[in-house]
Amino acid sequence: MCHAFLNDSRFYQFLFRIDQAIAAEVQAGGCPTCGGALHSARYPRKPRGIRGVLDESYESRLSFCCAEDGCRRRCTPPSVRFLGRKVYLGVLVVLLSALEHGLSPKRRQRLMETLEVSPQTLWRWCQWWRESFPASRPWQAAKGYFLPPLAPEQFPGALLGRLSGADLHQRL
Ligand SMILES: [Zn+2]
Repeated sequence: MCHAFLNDSRFYQFLFRIDQAIAAEVQAGGCPTCGGALHSARYPRKPRGIRGVLDESYESRLSFCCAEDGCRRRCTPPSVRFLGRKVYLGVLVVLLSALEHGLSPKRRQRLMETLEVSPQTLWRWCQWWRESFPASRPWQAAKGYFLPPLAPEQFPGALLGRLSGADLHQRL
């Protein structure tokens, strides 16, 4: 089920359109330091695990650089595709961590081999969900909306389960 879900190229195009909309808004606002025009200066990226279904829009992260001499400030909009500096797409970090307890060891191993995720990497992601994410500013700002409160040991599965959305694509 999960693998078919992850192979739906329309989902990745949908995420790219969201990133484009966020980036257009940031670019329209101009440089936060001097008000200068922001020019495209994308970061090259090589997301691991699901390259086969990704088009060339996934070979870079949208980013801008101020065009004014003496400023040249870098401006990287938030992304729903790339999670910080992680080499795996955010969707993999969410789904595989959420599935960690729900799959038989054999199915889990097969999925991790297909997606080129090592057990150590998955372990680090789970640590990140339980320790770094609960302390992050976005979660600190959002956690008040979840009643009864969510326990960090159950991240990210319990969080996905609480979000509204008709299907897994929307909740992600
Ligand atoms: Zn500037």
